[in-house]
Amino acid sequence: MKGMSICPVCNGLYEMSLMCANCGEPMIESGRLMDYYDNYSPYMDIDLMKLEDGYPDTYSGNKCPHLYRCPTCQHDHVLFIKE
Ligand SMILES: [Zn+2]
Ligand SMILES: [Zn+2]
Repeated sequence: MKGMSICPVCNGLYEMSLMCANCGEPMIESGRLMDYYDNYSPYMDIDLMKLEDGYPDTYSGNKCPHLYRCPTCQHDHVLFIKE
């Protein structure tokens, strides 16, 4: 147990509903971006790579980045959940 995350989405307290900016379909929560980043960094596209610069700020701001994906058009969006 790391005991550092109190992100409500990680803890299953609620689900964020997010509409795809591309096609308007509901997006699906695909897990923490950290998990993807550790395991699948070659898979990341340019948009996600750009976030790398913002990570230190993200950590200090106690926000938990979650990856959302549209099942219809495969559009990805990273949502920062306040912890
Ligand atoms: Zn989280
Ligand atoms: Zn879409």
